[in-house]
Amino acid sequence: MFDHKKTDIIVLGAGPVGLTAAHALANRNTDYVLFDLEKHRNTHSYALALHPETLERLDSFGLVERILESSLQLSKVAIYKDGREKASLDYSMLPLQYPFLAVIRQSELEHILIDNLSIKSKKPMWTHRVRLIEDKGDSLNVSVDRLIQGMTGYAVAHIEMQIDKILNYKANYLIGADGYHSTARQSAGIDFPEISPHIEYAIFEFKTDADLPNEMRILIDGDKTHLFWPLPGGHCRWSFQVDSSSTKVNSMHKDRSFMQFGSQHTPILDRKNLDHYLSKHAPWFNGSVENLTWSILLNCEHRLAHHFGKGRIWLAGDSAHLIPRAGTLSMNVGMREACDLVEIISADASEDERTNRLEQYNRHRIAEWQHLLDMDHHISAADQTADWILKHRDSLVGNIPATGETLTLLLAQLHLFDAA
Ligand SMILES: Cc1cc2nc3c(=O)[nH]c(=O)nc-3n(C[C@H](O)[C@H](O)[C@H](O)COP(=O)(O)OP(=O)(O)OC[C@H]3O[C@@H](n4cnc5c(N)ncnc54)[C@H](O)[C@@H]3O)c2cc1C
Repeated sequence: MFDHKKTDIIVLGAGPVGLTAAHALANRNTDYVLFDLEKHRNTHSYALALHPETLERLDSFGLVERILESSLQLSKVAIYKDGREKASLDYSMLPLQYPFLAVIRQSELEHILIDNLSIKSKKPMWTHRVRLIEDKGDSLNVSVDRLIQGMTGYAVAHIEMQIDKILNYKANYLIGADGYHSTARQSAGIDFPEISPHIEYAIFEFKTDADLPNEMRILIDGDKTHLFWPLPGGHCRWSFQVDSSSTKVNSMHKDRSFMQFGSQHTPILDRKNLDHYLSKHAPWFNGSVENLTWSILLNCEHRLAHHFGKGRIWLAGDSAHLIPRAGTLSMNVGMREACDLVEIISADASEDERTNRLEQYNRHRIAEWQHLLDMDHHISAADQTADWILKHRDSLVGNIPATGETLTLLLAQLHLFDAA
């Protein structure tokens, strides 16, 4: 049996970007449904910092106090080379309402966003998998599998998701915030090419007795860049860039299990190796490694969609860009993209006007990413720019957690200038 339902906008994916789109739509009283194929939110920290502008956005949803209660606030990013601090970026000097980074686990951010949607009775429809999106010109037809858990197997029974019912939706627009394997992107026939080689990181998260510095650290080591983030509750995250290995590495697949544990068995993630990385790349760290809650060898791809949408299907977040850098750009920019899309799609405008604004959205997004990743070579030096900064500028591009005017001001602190 088919069920026929109508809605104005479908949001596909209840990650941070789709949840942000849902908040923006709820704020405008626009009719929407939000589908996610999973049973619940993800359970890891993944992207763990919110930029100052993202905090302003969350403030407009009435969420900033809750976010600040659950986060660490960092007003400094230090750049280390050969084990010593060589330069730093001071956020506290910026003319912003929230002149700092808020470090919060992505799982906690998603929890807060979902909780707030539940209060508005607009929570995600979990275990709803969008399988087919047809653009009919004047509307979209979207087929959704409602999933339930079922037992399969004979000798060894196991639980897997099965289709309970197929739902048919008619909508005006779809916001594809459905991440790496985006059905939205594929339905619109949009290419998602690699724009530079992937990077591999050995990532560790643990609790420590160290008095953690209240700053993020970018550790430059030859052609590699390692990263340190303090986390709330005395935990910290280390990402050590490693040589591309022949080991099977995790690609961009999110973990939904609530067991926070070392998720792979590869020598690179051994405790002995962690100790080696710490003493080699962070001689200043002398704390304990108490509770290794997460370790993973991650293959981070670097992709940018050819187009940010077509017809009635538009993209925001990881469905359109994967950026293997520490700047947490993909999530923060994705959350802004979601708000921009909502503003365009739900505005009271003629069809032609809306189409023009969506095309403009596409052009601006492509240009913004080319700019953020310095693909247009806009970052220029001055006489005072230190040689080591020029030599390692690739370690800085994409790793500084900032965009737009904030990024321009921070680069200026390093005597790097935005020539665009
Ligand atoms: C393993 C891993 C580690 C990461 N580490 C970092 C990091 O250290 N720093 C950093 O900045 N970023 C990191 N990221 C990236 C960061 O998590 C993303 O930028 C962020 O999640 C983007 O959010 P999103 O909402 O665009 O997509 P996602 O969070 O991927 O959400 C997409 C959602 O869409 C749902 N979905 C997909 N297809 C369908 C369908 N057909 N029907 C219904 N639902 C669907 C998925 O279930 C998912 O919930 C990491 C990502 C991964 C996977």
